Amino acid sequence: MIRLKGISKTYKLGAQTVHALRGVDLMIRDGEFMAIMGPSGSGKSTLMNIIGCLDRPTAGIYELDGINVRRLSDNKLADVRNRRLGFVFQSFNLLPRLNAIDQVAMPLSYRGVTKRKKLAIAALKLVGLGSRMHHNPTQLSGGQQQRVAIARAIVGSPTIILADEPTGALDTRTSHDVMEIFRALNEERGITIAFVTHEHDVAAYTRRIVSLRDGEIVSDEPNVPSYARATAPAADASAHAAASGRPPSFEADA
Ligand code: ADP
Ligand code: MG
Repeated sequence: MIRLKGISKTYKLGAQTVHALRGVDLMIRDGEFMAIMGPSGSGKSTLMNIIGCLDRPTAGIYELDGINVRRLSDNKLADVRNRRLGFVFQSFNLLPRLNAIDQVAMPLSYRGVTKRKKLAIAALKLVGLGSRMHHNPTQLSGGQQQRVAIARAIVGSPTIILADEPTGALDTRTSHDVMEIFRALNEERGITIAFVTHEHDVAAYTRRIVSLRDGEIVSDEPNVPSYARATAPAADASAHAAASGRPPSFEADA
């Protein structure tokens, strides 16, 4: 679980002070699937970087699974980051000369995990890249590169995935493919997922939408995921099927 209390972040730029976050209170429970929205410059990336232990707040308390992050040394913080968190970025952040397997196996090498290759292959299969495992990033489409990045984020079995505009560089269809992977990781593996997006139809996949403006949370609302809305008739059909003793069929929705 993530708990932020009164989190502020200021940057000094010469004589100027930039207040990127101004006293953010936020709790993210295990298993949540949420989006963070807000205009450019509202503090979304700053917030993600603090939650992800990539940056430290200027003031406030951040507890990750009950651990006060402020008390951790940089080494311990890196260890927490490596074990509990997976990151996905807008620009994929892949290494140009590595094939997908080596790319995904990389974070495990910092942890001295054996069977790295086997775990990397399993993660790549999970994101639907079983047939592209020996390709370099230049030989993959944007959507495929982002799937490699997601495989890299999940290979170490994190409890939380943080993504900063993961669909920002993708076309609409590919964005939905990526969201479908996140949805499955959340629903089937219980991984907590928090991501930043500008797109309402991407945020619509989640069950909670938090909006930032000028470094403050201005709204925090539950959301009915769009896929749940889309399959509502199927839910009725399966209830009906259950009542009639037949197995529920997803084709009923088509
Ligand atoms: P968003 O991701 O919502 O676009 P950011 O969190 O990147 O917003 O930035 C919030 C504010 O903090 C902006 O005004 C930005 O210019 C400023 N900022 C972010 N990072 C730095 C930095 N390293 N140094 C100075 N100012 C920064
Ligand atoms: Mg940003």
